[in-house]
Amino acid sequence: KNIDQYAVFGQPIKHSKSPRIHRLFAEQTGENIEYTAREVPADTFDEAVDQFFAAGGKGLNCTVPLKELAWRRAERLTERARLSKAVNTLAQQEDGSLLGDNTDGIGLVTDLTRNHGITLTDARVLILGAGGASRGIIGPILECKPSRLLIANRTVAKAEQLTEDFADIGKISACGFDHLPGQQFDLILNATSASLSNQLPPLPERLLAENGCCYDLAYANEATAFVRWGQLQNAGHSLDGLGMLVEQAAEAFYLWRGIRPETRPVIALLNAERHPA
Ligand code: NDP
Repeated sequence: KNIDQYAVFGQPIKHSKSPRIHRLFAEQTGENIEYTAREVPADTFDEAVDQFFAAGGKGLNCTVPLKELAWRRAERLTERARLSKAVNTLAQQEDGSLLGDNTDGIGLVTDLTRNHGITLTDARVLILGAGGASRGIIGPILECKPSRLLIANRTVAKAEQLTEDFADIGKISACGFDHLPGQQFDLILNATSASLSNQLPPLPERLLAENGCCYDLAYANEATAFVRWGQLQNAGHSLDGLGMLVEQAAEAFYLWRGIRPETRPVIALLNAERHPA
C-alpha cells in the first residue's frame, strides 16, 4: 500500500519546521506517513493543490501567503475556519471533497493553558495586530471567556473590522496604539509581524499587570524583540510561538489521522535544539 502523503505549501518554506514536527509525530504514534515542504507561490496555488490531491495526497498545511487562498479553495469549512477567513489545514474527505480547518487559534490556546498553565478565563487580554494571525486566534480566545479582549493595531480600521466580525462570539473592542497608556492587561499577545524585522509596536510602561504574561506568535532561534520586552516588564512568562506551532500541527495531525500525538516531548526537543546547553 502506498504511504499517505502530506505536505506544507508556502512561500518562503525552506525554514519551515512543519516537516520535522510531523515526522516526529508519525514516529511517536507509529503512523506511516510522508510529509514534505513545497515552495508554492500564490499564483500557482490552485494548480499545486489539484496536482497534490490528484497524485493521492491526503492532507495539506498552508502557510504565508496562502491561508486565505486555502480558505477560498476548501469546499467545506469548520466553524472556526469560516470565522477566521483563513485555512491552515486541508483534509481530503471520503467523498473526495476538501475540508478546510484553522488550527492556529486552538494551538495557541492549548499552548497557553495546557503547557504553561495560563488562564484565559476572566483575564484581561490584549492582542497587538489585526492581520491574518489575529483573525485566526480571536474566536478560540473569546471562547475561553476573557473579562475583556482589546485589539490594538496601527491601522485602527482593521482592528475595528475584526470587532464587527467577532461581535457575536464575545466581548471585543478595538483601538490604536495611542490609546494604550493607562490600560493594563494580564496577557499581551503580539500578532504583528513587527518581530520578524526585530521591531516593536510602541508600548507604554505598566501595560502588563504584575506577573502577567507576554506571548509572541512569531518565533526565532533567539528571543524576539517582544519576548525581550516582556522580560523587561518582569512578566510571569514571556514566551514565543514555538509551542503554538507544535500545537497547531498536532491538531492538524489529529484531523488527518484520528490520533493525538504528545506535543511536550516535541516542544522540548525543538527548544533544546535552539538553546544548545
Ligand atoms: P499580516 O501581514 O496579516 O499582519 C501583520 C500585522 O502586523 C498587521 O496588523 C500590521 O499592522 C502589523 N505590523 C506590521 N509591522 C508593524 C510595525 N512595525 N509596527 C506595528 N504593527 C506592525 O501577518 P500575519 O497576521 O499573518 O502574521 C503575524 C505574525 O504571526 C507573524 O510574525 C507570523 O510569523 C506569526 N504567526 C505565528 C504562528 C505560529 O504558529 N506560531 C501562526 C501564524 C502566524 P497594519 O494593519 O497597520 O499594517
